[in-house]
Amino acid sequence: MKIQFIGATHEVTGSCTLLEVNGRFYLVDCGMEQGKDVFQNIALPVEAPQIEAVFLTHAHIDHSGMLPKLYKDGFRGKIYATDVTCDLCNIMLRDSAYIQESEAQWISKRALRSGAKSVEPVYDVQDAEGAISRLFPCRYGERTVCGDGVEARFTDIGHLLGSACIELWLNEDGVQKKIVFSGDVGNTD
Ligand SMILES: [Zn+2]
Repeated sequence: MKIQFIGATHEVTGSCTLLEVNGRFYLVDCGMEQGKDVFQNIALPVEAPQIEAVFLTHAHIDHSGMLPKLYKDGFRGKIYATDVTCDLCNIMLRDSAYIQESEAQWISKRALRSGAKSVEPVYDVQDAEGAISRLFPCRYGERTVCGDGVEARFTDIGHLLGSACIELWLNEDGVQKKIVFSGDVGNTD
């Protein structure tokens, strides 16, 4: 098993972790970097179509916001998330796409006035709908087989409706390892 931190390494936004299990690639979260452009996510070291599946801790955009871009780049695997997270993403990813399109239009308008080139949105509503079509709803507490030697269970972590920490059981060459991704934790009460 190999693990590589793609985002949220110097700050809390842009959560994204790459796992390699039995020669197949998985992501835990696929978040958008937000706020001041101090740190940017590094590029994925594999092509989007090579990603087998994504495990999503919760719907906040800094954990889910690049899923439409992943779809745009050719990802067609499943996105495992709790059923409520799937419902929220159905709204939030469309909204995020609308924001991307509006921002690109606004920047392009200004650019054209000054003779510069127009810009493309990071993704559009069709890409968001593509990502939404890949969502695979899971229930809290149920262990789901998600790939070759990979099982997952979502547990309530009390951060947002549908939010979860994700337990992953990874079996490789007869050895089982368990790794837990907390996602965002809390509020305190
Ligand atoms: Zn959050």
